[in-house]
Order: sequence, then C-alpha cells, then structure tokens
Amino acid sequence: MRERMRVGINKLGFGFLRLPETAGEPDWRTIAELTDIFLDEGGRWFDTFYTYMNGRSEEAVRRCVTERLPRDRFRLIEKLPGYLCGSYEDCGRYFREEQRRCGTDYFDIYMLHWLNRENYETAERVDEFRFLREVKEGGYAGRIGFSWHDSASLLDTVLSRHPEVDVVLLQINYLDWESAGIESRKCYETALRHGKSVFVMEPVKGGTLSRLPPEAEKILRRQDPERTPSDWALRFVQSLPGVEICLSGMNRAEHVRANLAPFPLLTEAETDALRKVAEVLRKDGGIPCTGCRYCVSHCPKHISIPDVLGMYNEMQRWPEEDWKIRPVYEQTVKTRGKASECIGCGSCEKHCPQHIHIPEWMGRAAQMLER
Ligand code: SF4
Ligand code: SF4
Repeated sequence: MRERMRVGINKLGFGFLRLPETAGEPDWRTIAELTDIFLDEGGRWFDTFYTYMNGRSEEAVRRCVTERLPRDRFRLIEKLPGYLCGSYEDCGRYFREEQRRCGTDYFDIYMLHWLNRENYETAERVDEFRFLREVKEGGYAGRIGFSWHDSASLLDTVLSRHPEVDVVLLQINYLDWESAGIESRKCYETALRHGKSVFVMEPVKGGTLSRLPPEAEKILRRQDPERTPSDWALRFVQSLPGVEICLSGMNRAEHVRANLAPFPLLTEAETDALRKVAEVLRKDGGIPCTGCRYCVSHCPKHISIPDVLGMYNEMQRWPEEDWKIRPVYEQTVKTRGKASECIGCGSCEKHCPQHIHIPEWMGRAAQMLER
C-alpha cells in the first residue's frame, strides 16, 4: 500500500563555510543576494566560525547580514576556537574578536567548536564550559553548546558532566548514519536522550552526496526521477525528529530556493532506498573528505589536500572524465604541492575530523593523478 505523504517543516540553516568567490576574494554582491533570497524564502539561521574561509566567513556575516539587516530578521550561530585557548582569558579575547568581526554583541547560539577527546580535555583544563555559561548569563548568547567529533559514548560522558549545554551540533547524513568512525545515529540518539536540541552539519557530506555514482543514482531515480541527490540527503536529515536546524552551504540562488521549498518527509521505502545507496557508496571506497579544509594550513608541503582527495574520488567514480579532471589537477599543483611531494609527516591527520589517513591516500592519488 502506498504510504501517505507528510510534509516536513523546513529546518535549513545557511552555513557560511564555503561561499562564492571571485578571483580568490569573497563575492560580496552574490553573498548578499543569496542572503536575501534565503530570508525571503523563509530561512533564518546563519552559521559561521573564526577560521572559516580564513576569517572571511565572519566578515561575510558582518557585511552581508548584521550590517544590512534588522537583528530580529536572522539568527546567528558562532563558535569559540577553544582548542586555541591556552587560558581562560584567551576565551574572552577570541569572543570579543568574533563579536567585532561579525559586527554584533549577541549570538543566538554560542558553541565550543570541534570538541573531540583531545579538545574536550583542553576545554576542561581551560574551564571553557564556565566561559560559555558566563556568556549566556551575561546576555551575549541565547543558548550554548558544542560541535561534536568523537564517539557517542564520550558524548554521553560530556553531556552528563555538562547538563547546562542546550544544543549539540552533530555530523549527520545517511552515509555516516551507521558509520563506525562518525557514529551519526548513536550520537543523535545520545543527544536526544539527554534532552538536547540537535543541530546538524555536513548533511550532504561536503558535496559527496550531491553527485552519486551511476549505480547509486539509479536507486534514487527509481523512487523519484525528479529529485536531485542533494535533495535526498537534506530530506533524510530534515525528516529526523528532534533535529532543529540542518546547516548547509549554498552558493547558487537556485540551490537556496530548491533547498527551502516544502518537502515531503521520507517514507519507509525511501529510507530503505537511502540505506541501499549508502551500501553502494561504502563499497565504492571513496575517500570521505568533506572539504572542511581544517588540514590544509598544517601541511608543510602546501598540498591542497581536499582538492587532491576530491579529484581522486572523481577519477575513481568517473574514469571516463579523466580528460577533464587531470588538467584541473595540473593547474592546482602549479601553485600548491603535488600529492607525490607528501612526506608522510601526518600533521594533517591530527586535524581531520573524518579520521582520514591522508598520507596513504596521497600516495594513491599521486599514482592516479600524476601517472
Ligand atoms: S602527511 Fe603529507 S599531506 Fe599531510 S601534512 Fe604531511 S606532507 Fe602534508
Ligand atoms: S581531509 Fe579531513 S580535514 Fe582535510 S578537508 Fe578533508 S575532511 Fe577536512
């Protein structure tokens, strides 16, 4: 029997992580246009962070959001780079700098960025949770929380020790849902068990779920020939009860409009189809890089790691597009290190939230892209 369609509430937030650029500079006019379209279509939430786009993301918030719009038209998420703080005073210094860069005193949500085992130890040592509480009590943030990049069991421990946290930002998408490394489902269930509001990052896994290999795409086309792979990925996350906001980067007007259109909640048959797509993707063995670029500045050989990994994935999936991919690689390595120049130092790996064994992949990418 055909399942009845239920329409979901749109939960999309605009992630200012990957914004349109022209000649290496943020394209301010386009970003302002996208901001207006997003708000006109019913969106409200914007998300930024100290290091996104080398600090230009916060500048984009100031130039395109806070300086242009009345404060009640939007909601803003900002995060403390707690892992950079050596003392409690550092927290205040970063916070004031973020306020200045974003052009606002008040953040609707203020979080610790990128909490994992190591950064959590820093957070406790520096007393960063106390800092969050004081920011909230002082009226500079509506709610407080953290973004999470470790196991569900450690998340359980952290939430038990810090019941004052309101919100948890988790990496959730249908590919990572049952992944042993990311533990999307387990983390989501843990956050809900503690009564937290769940915010979601990487719903399309840095674009990985926007373009699927033919076998995977066929499964979705059989369900609905009209929907795009990104649309499926966003629906998966937005259909989850308890998810308040799902953050996604967007750099074209048609993407903003399409992503904010009303959508039917996933049926069981559709959820099952996504499970099958995830199986295909896991077998296909692509590198699970989300393009966050956290690794890039740590590479002594100046390799543009996510671009190299992305091109490796493309070559694996669409070998017939070799003619198109290889020139892009050659262009990229004119100004950056080549995959074959990787010295295996591993300093990139320590900063990768996806736990990717980057030096190993650099060796394979060199063989494939430089042969
Ligand atoms: S392991 Fe390779 S890619 Fe990673 S930082 Fe070292 S040189 Fe760069
Ligand atoms: S390799 Fe890891 S840290 Fe680097 S861009 Fe990809 S996901 Fe981010």
